[in-house]
Amino acid sequence: MSAKKSRQDWETLAQSIEIKGQALIGGELRDAESGDTFACISPVDGRVLANVASCDLADANLAVSNARAMFESGAWAQLPPAERKKVVIRFAELIEENGDELALLETLDMGKPIRYSKAVDVAGAARAIRWSGEAVDKIYDELAPTPHNEIGMVTREPVGVVAAIVPWNFPMLMACWKLGPALAAGNSVILKPSEKSPLTAIRLGQLAMEAGMPAGVLNVLPGFGHTVGKALALHMDVDTLVFTGSTKIAKQLMIYAGESNMKRVWLEAGGKSPNIVFADAPDLDAAAEAATSAIAFNQGEVCTAGSRLLVEASIKDAFVEKVALQLQNWQPGHPLDPDTQVGAVVDQQQLDTVLTYIEKGAQGGATMVCGGKRVMTETGGLFVEPTVFDNVNNQMPIAREEIFGPVLSVITFNSAEEAVAIANDTDYGLAAAVWTSNISKAHKTAKALRTGMVWINHYDGGDMTAPFGGYKQSGNGRDKSLHAFEKYTEVKATWIAL
Ligand code: NAD
Ligand code: MN
Repeated sequence: MSAKKSRQDWETLAQSIEIKGQALIGGELRDAESGDTFACISPVDGRVLANVASCDLADANLAVSNARAMFESGAWAQLPPAERKKVVIRFAELIEENGDELALLETLDMGKPIRYSKAVDVAGAARAIRWSGEAVDKIYDELAPTPHNEIGMVTREPVGVVAAIVPWNFPMLMACWKLGPALAAGNSVILKPSEKSPLTAIRLGQLAMEAGMPAGVLNVLPGFGHTVGKALALHMDVDTLVFTGSTKIAKQLMIYAGESNMKRVWLEAGGKSPNIVFADAPDLDAAAEAATSAIAFNQGEVCTAGSRLLVEASIKDAFVEKVALQLQNWQPGHPLDPDTQVGAVVDQQQLDTVLTYIEKGAQGGATMVCGGKRVMTETGGLFVEPTVFDNVNNQMPIAREEIFGPVLSVITFNSAEEAVAIANDTDYGLAAAVWTSNISKAHKTAKALRTGMVWINHYDGGDMTAPFGGYKQSGNGRDKSLHAFEKYTEVKATWIAL
């Protein structure tokens, strides 16, 4: 491991890397068939990082036919699992070996602090790929309990061609949660990164090739949702579509699947997660620290952000004061400064969305406790102060709609029943947290919450060993853990008469 780099070190490295903006199809870096490109603009300072291939239907067709041909050839799908595993693990090693470059690309492209790009995104991406590779020669199929003269086999096979459409908030991490099990299971994959953060996906594609993945196993198509994303979602020869992104687009993808070939659609969508703090929490300072990072980390651009802070009435004022105090440690800074905790918002459109919600919160009768302003405009970058609203009621837009920025809504409750009712009164069901010393209250509350993940006395825990995903309009299916393999395999029943 290298010593901690200074901002100057990162700036110097940024000068030396060659940023690739092409698509990767059938093992070759190529321009879009149309020749069109779009400017990839850094939210850190407004500079153009690259002109990126703007793929559309023609590129989708080419990538799908390459992916299909590779799948049919068996050169990847039919390798012994232990052989695929070696290549997948080598891919994970290359992500680590190129970690500084990947972290830098992520930070420049979408604005998150470099310390997290390295410690969270690169580390998490490598772990997701390695864990999936390690798993693949340890997953057994089943034999049905059959009569003596029959054998019933239940086997899992790769689905074939997988299209993965991913968002910009954790571009490489969300991609790798999907690539790990999809590739390890033997599928061919077409990765469509967000138009707001295409750079690491392209680099990942190159690294997969370098690791020994045959050409056509992993294809990368940068471009817009309504062009290349839609083309993939409507494609008659894509078997499975996996997605992380907004609930609005998730619903649209189900329609596209129904309008085309009924491809399997697995969705990881938005959230408005409740963080419930009871007066008997074991450590209110720790709870306040967690409530703060739950909304400020990654500029609040986190699907599991603890954006609704539900606090028991008796401690509410004191607790909000603690959160406001903690937030002083989470003021925006230059993303390449290794001490910065809050970086730039991904683009102008997202910044405008955040500022509009801040206005709505103030006009709607909530009390602004701190934050609320765009800052550091002299840098040419897009920065906003983490913002807390007190006296929010759960019907206000800032409590109902996913802002996807550092805007916290504080809601007061008087009983456990009321807390659960407010927590569940949402279209979403991704995650929730509960803070209490009472083990019975902790479990009762956790069971009553309609969410795919519940954290008790901490926020945002998890690992590759546990599934990640939501109830209700937060999606279906799960990333991470062995459950993720369910998305990338079909179950076959083979019945043999002896
Ligand atoms: P988005 O839905 O706008 O875009 C996601 C992806 O879909 C992008 O690649 C985009 O180009 C593509 N897309 C857009 N329109 C499309 C169309 N018509 N057809 C096909 N593809 C299309 O979401 P975003 O703004 O990039 O990401 C933020 C969202 O992601 C938030 O709602 C957040 O909660 C969610 N998210 C969820 C999880 C999770 O695991 N549940 C994790 C991270 C982010
Ligand atoms: Mn970008």
